[in-house]
Amino acid sequence: MFQRANRHYVKWFSIIEHELSLLFRLFSPLCAKCFSCTLSQAENQQRSKHQFWCCCLTDNQVHDHWKSLDAIQRLTDINWYQKLAANSMAIRKRRTLGNGPCPALGPSGCLIRKCRPATCSTLICEKMLFVLVKSRILTCRITGPLQIEDITDAPDILPELCGIKNRRLVTEQDVRRYISAVTQLRRRLVVVAEEKRTFLIEEALEAYLGKGGGKK
Ligand code: SF4
Ligand code: SF4
Repeated sequence: MFQRANRHYVKWFSIIEHELSLLFRLFSPLCAKCFSCTLSQAENQQRSKHQFWCCCLTDNQVHDHWKSLDAIQRLTDINWYQKLAANSMAIRKRRTLGNGPCPALGPSGCLIRKCRPATCSTLICEKMLFVLVKSRILTCRITGPLQIEDITDAPDILPELCGIKNRRLVTEQDVRRYISAVTQLRRRLVVVAEEKRTFLIEEALEAYLGKGGGKK
């Protein structure tokens, strides 16, 4: 059940989101390359690998999570969506598959700087999983995208912090546990040499967007 935005929870969510962004930065430039490769494949009608296309081009998390996102964004800017729509016009004219492109997608990435839909902040797509598995940080089989909570000990508290669910009270200790789990994963990835990460990112792009499904 959707809850009213809780400023206290939103503040905690922002702190967690910042920690997550430090982790995802280590995958750069994976998303930028995934985006341009997807656009190229879409324009050339190469749709056989579309299940691995850029999530922001094929998905629409803004409208899927409209109630909670609107409630949170309005806390700082009542006209947030109008501004978003004005800035994302160029990219929205492109046609892809699914219900995307997401209206928050601008020419240089997501236009929502703070408090994105939780599903965006925690998504570990197949290509990211590929990098983590090949770095020996994870040992799972890659059968589809996962969320951070699936691959770490982070407690499942973001639905509460975002106002999507109201199953329990979230405590500061839960938030600390979440941050600690993300930090541990980041520390394991940061020790993988940058050259190796860059190499694995290229391999992931080739495996999923080149060959279409992790085939080596
Ligand atoms: S599918 Fe993965 S690599 Fe591509 S844009 Fe989304 S998160 Fe980034
Ligand atoms: S909200 Fe941002 S990160 Fe999430 S799907 Fe839309 S553009 Fe991508």
